[in-house]
Amino acid sequence: RKLGIALVGLGNYSTGQLAPALQQTQHCRLAGVVTGSPAKVQRWQQQYGLPAKNCYDYQTFDRLVDNPDIDIVYVVLPNALHAEYVVRAAQAGKHVICEKPMATSVADCRRMIAACQRAGKQLSVGYRLHFEPHNQAMMRLGQQQAYGAIRHLAADNGFKFGAGSTPWRVQKKLSGGGPLMDMGIYCVQGCLYTKGQVPVSVTAKFGPNPNPQLFQDVEAALSWQMRFADNSVADCRTSYTENMQGRLRAETPSGWFELEPAFGYGGLAGRTSAGDGKLDLPNINQQAAQMDDFAQCILQNKPTRVPGEMGLRDVQLLEAIYRAAATGQAVSTKDVVQLIDRS
Ligand code: NAD
Repeated sequence: RKLGIALVGLGNYSTGQLAPALQQTQHCRLAGVVTGSPAKVQRWQQQYGLPAKNCYDYQTFDRLVDNPDIDIVYVVLPNALHAEYVVRAAQAGKHVICEKPMATSVADCRRMIAACQRAGKQLSVGYRLHFEPHNQAMMRLGQQQAYGAIRHLAADNGFKFGAGSTPWRVQKKLSGGGPLMDMGIYCVQGCLYTKGQVPVSVTAKFGPNPNPQLFQDVEAALSWQMRFADNSVADCRTSYTENMQGRLRAETPSGWFELEPAFGYGGLAGRTSAGDGKLDLPNINQQAAQMDDFAQCILQNKPTRVPGEMGLRDVQLLEAIYRAAATGQAVSTKDVVQLIDRS
């Protein structure tokens, strides 16, 4: 049987990526929606053949508890709203996928994990790149030290925030922060799964702010360095003032391997100093692969590779990076959840 997914929040990502991907999945299907907009309900019902009884708004959300068509609730709301809807989904007896960043505070992440544990339901984060061939190859090449031990990593990811961008991303109350929360998180993720370790400390510096009116509430740009136990480092950069391809590069004493673009939905490409073609790989529908994997985890009762604890780990690191930038001091990250995707 295909598990039923309900998308919560019908914004750009649900509309442009997740709903189309759900037309290509084998183990799950789009079964319902939650939205505050009645006009969207009509459109989605028509486009995807959804029955009215599977369409909810934020007030009727908790009635999901009575709906056996919905197995998984996928929270695709502005970051600060993730916690409330993940907790309510768990209380309604549903498995949950939560978009990245998992929440806007470590305390919220812990609350979300506890609620899912109490309900006996699985919680995963929308980390699609763990199911993407190029990024999986970076994990393998890095963790297995195919070209030797990594001494240096470099990653950057960002875009120029403009008229078409959603305003909540620059409102701290809804986003929790600027490009670090939105785009820089991919650099954190990429460096950790390529190195195969969680860093022991971070330093950071806010970038220039050319538009203080737009970026009143959140940083315009940020660069940071993560140090690992073996003294190797990752230099990372994120920005809302510059279009970046998205890059993930690892260097060893005898070579290098990298992806650029590294983090987008498609068109990813990689190369190695050895010219061995190990990063010449196909692009796939990442979201379909991610949701199918979670559905299989539930059907086979096995843990997801991208659990709530990984979302917590990353929010712990993001908080440490902000603290390092605010204080100008190195911040220890030794107490961060020690979890790595070892695939
Ligand atoms: P968006 O602004 O396009 O959509 C957000 C939706 O939430 C809108 O439909 C909006 O109406 C709704 N909403 C409900 N309550 C709201 C409120 N109080 N204020 C503002 N909007 C409210 O954003 P998006 O780009 O779809 O991002 C949604 C989430 O998905 C974010 O957490 C984002 O980080 C994540 N995301 C992940 C990826 C990925 O590749 N994994 C890509 C894009 C977005």
